[in-house]
Amino acid sequence: MSRWVVGLDIGGTNVVVGLVPVGGGRPASLRTRSTPSLGGQSEVVRGLAALIHEVVEEGLGAAGDPHGDVLGLGIGSPGPLDLERGVVLDAFNLGWKDFPLRDALGSEVGMPATLDNDANCATWGEYWRGAGRGALSLVGITLGTGIGGGVILDGRLVHGASASAGEIGHMSIDFHGRRCKCGNYGCLEAYASGPNIAARAREGLEAGAESLLTQLVDGDLEQLTAATVYEAILRGDAYAGEVMLETAKILGAGLANIVNVLNPHVIVIVGGVTRAGHYLFNPLRAEVRRRAFRTAEQACRIVPGELPETAGVIGAAGRFLAERGLDA
Ligand SMILES: [Zn+2]
Repeated sequence: MSRWVVGLDIGGTNVVVGLVPVGGGRPASLRTRSTPSLGGQSEVVRGLAALIHEVVEEGLGAAGDPHGDVLGLGIGSPGPLDLERGVVLDAFNLGWKDFPLRDALGSEVGMPATLDNDANCATWGEYWRGAGRGALSLVGITLGTGIGGGVILDGRLVHGASASAGEIGHMSIDFHGRRCKCGNYGCLEAYASGPNIAARAREGLEAGAESLLTQLVDGDLEQLTAATVYEAILRGDAYAGEVMLETAKILGAGLANIVNVLNPHVIVIVGGVTRAGHYLFNPLRAEVRRRAFRTAEQACRIVPGELPETAGVIGAAGRFLAERGLDA
């Protein structure tokens, strides 16, 4: 009989559920649903439980093992969280406040459950079964609508004093910089998240820069996204290339801080922005080299994630196993 864990990755836009083999690897089944459609707390619990049951049934069927043993449920959720009590304290994007998600969902599906931060789970997924396999110290960065992060030092996920360690997107990289959603100024996220890459591109266009970008959005600059910038780069647009180069340098400055402070073996970057490939990674690595301590920089690989759709799900399942001491 095979053994499995359910991984649940809750994001601002989508919820992803997968049935993950205990040894890690590809989920036997995987489903995605839009997060806002789940509704209020009790509806969220019922909706997620139904989705989990579907995924378990489908996955065990696909694996040809209808009586497989499902050990439990690992949940990754936006925070801040109270890890001890398994409570989502305030996921403002989802309108969740003091939501005892771990125990409510665990008892609804009849499984033991664990809860951790979504970016921590994605980081753990890459560490356990992705681009960071074999590394002992690893930092994960999720680049998307926001910038999240996770820190693993000497094989242990770092939570810190109030479970908010790893908020890499909110380190200040410019003392007098752009206003961030968190209320601070000059955060990394205020420059290098998807929407802020688009915002910086838009500001340059409004100031008169010539670019294919204007054409790609039919003159409606509000429609501009980081993906449009990437598309323009592939078509050889010089201005879009400058925006990406600037983004890479900004990220490089942030990563140099991480390299100097934490001395990781690997930094894994996860998210749609990594599709920019060497346009992003080459100047980013050069900037880290320029800024960080030489020995620390030389010891650190900076790589894109290897689990583009599933790092969060695999990592959430992996956290369940790690917390239960079942991942040996
Ligand atoms: Zn911030």
